[in-house]
Amino acid sequence: MTEYPDLKLFIDNRWHQTAETLPVLNPATEAEIGRLPVARTSDLDLALEAAEKGFKVWSRTAPRIRAQIIMKAASLLRERAEKIAPSITMENGKPLMQARMEVIRGSEFFEWDAGEAQRLYGHVVPSAPGIRYTVIREAAGIVAGFAPWNFPLSQPARKVAGALASGCSIILKAAEETPAGAMHIARAFLDAGLPAGVLNLVFGNPAEISSYLIPQDRVRVVAFTGSTSVGIHLTEMAARSMTPVLMELGGHAPVIVCDDVDPVAAGVMSAVRKARNSGQVCTSPTRFFVMENSYEAFAHAFAARASQVRMGNGLDRETEMGPVANHRRIAALDALVEDARSKGAKVLAGGTRPNGPGYFFPVTVLADVPDNARVMKEEPFGPLAIINPVSSLDDAIARANALPFGLAAYGFTHSAANVDQMTSGIEAGNLSINTLEASVAEVPFGGVKYSGHGREGGAEGLHHYTVTKTISHRMELETEPTVSGAKP
Ligand code: NAD
Repeated sequence: MTEYPDLKLFIDNRWHQTAETLPVLNPATEAEIGRLPVARTSDLDLALEAAEKGFKVWSRTAPRIRAQIIMKAASLLRERAEKIAPSITMENGKPLMQARMEVIRGSEFFEWDAGEAQRLYGHVVPSAPGIRYTVIREAAGIVAGFAPWNFPLSQPARKVAGALASGCSIILKAAEETPAGAMHIARAFLDAGLPAGVLNLVFGNPAEISSYLIPQDRVRVVAFTGSTSVGIHLTEMAARSMTPVLMELGGHAPVIVCDDVDPVAAGVMSAVRKARNSGQVCTSPTRFFVMENSYEAFAHAFAARASQVRMGNGLDRETEMGPVANHRRIAALDALVEDARSKGAKVLAGGTRPNGPGYFFPVTVLADVPDNARVMKEEPFGPLAIINPVSSLDDAIARANALPFGLAAYGFTHSAANVDQMTSGIEAGNLSINTLEASVAEVPFGGVKYSGHGREGGAEGLHHYTVTKTISHRMELETEPTVSGAKP
């Protein structure tokens, strides 16, 4: 029997049990695997006090020491990847291999941001003699972080890495469906010697926790990953206390397939990628716009490979794709497929789910999907792909941009001119050419339009957790008014 951790809140470097608990289910079996501790207001007050104390210590800790502790936690996560992976598979459903890769990816986020902690440079602005303007970046304060269930470890890692590298303390609410991933992070930081109160982890009712934490004056940054509707709600709440937000929200990623690439290879690769994490990735390739000459070959290759995806319990080593994470996704996917089918879309693969327990949904390929189908506008957030023909690159770019989302976008082409046209034409935070990878630690990641605000990762990743302070320093006491340091 694979072990699932005993779930607890983590406040002020101590594990807390709560009176109320909720079941955590394995999406592959629907069996209960653990009990989620539900934080009450009193727990949140403890977390706020701890985070305030933690901030005082951590923001004054030398960046080099902060980086060492973060690197130590990252290396513990790497060492423990083999042991951590099964608990991620049990709570989220993804295959073991992907769970292991997720732990490594989480470690990479920590390693990158630990490096950036030491490069939070300010600057000196050229000025008149006798006065010096210095601009520095300081840790913003306590962060309220909210991480979703699709990547139980690497999503919390992004928030914790950015906050801690910047010198902030954080109260993280990890997803109620997938609490173990974040607990492994807390354990690694406890073992790495993080001072008490810097990282606090709570679970419970998301609306109750966010509506209590966000209005607190002590909370100086809100960082959320999840749906656009919840993101807007939290942004409105944060606006009332002028608290800056970092919002990583939904997408509906377009993929433009030009006819100068091998359509079969592109189709096969796309089907494999669509199955990753059962399509529950905000950057998952979803709307494929394929040049007419390549359309048949691409759609055929995609559907053939999609039909072969081995779906099953992620703990089984043969499994290529696990279940989706919860029953809400099943209901949403069923409704989107039915709607598209009724409006004339062709189902080239999948479409119906198997009998038996578990939230399984096969890779489903819809072709010739009319624009009035709901799935053309609503993010499926599951293993569902849409393949439609386009007559030109202009047409493809217009269709890619037609939605209010702009997170990840992809193009397959060997033409520099096509890449240039996509680069200037596509409305998205991240454009990837000839690869379906959109987000790695060393580059900034985030959206435009309704896909969000701010960036995680890269050199830009710490900006949202810091505030800029300008120091104007005259060497002599000012005796008469000056303009820009010079006498008028
Ligand atoms: P949802 O909108 O109910 O929840 C999304 C996430 O937000 C969950 O992690 C949930 O715990 C959290 N949440 C919900 N209400 C909240 C509140 N009032 N305060 C704080 N947090 C709150 O939807 P869902 O069914 O869990 O997920 C489906 C949708 O969420 C998808 O369509 C997708 O767009 C989005 N999603 C996006 C990402 C991402 O990586 N951007 C990850 C997970 C889910």
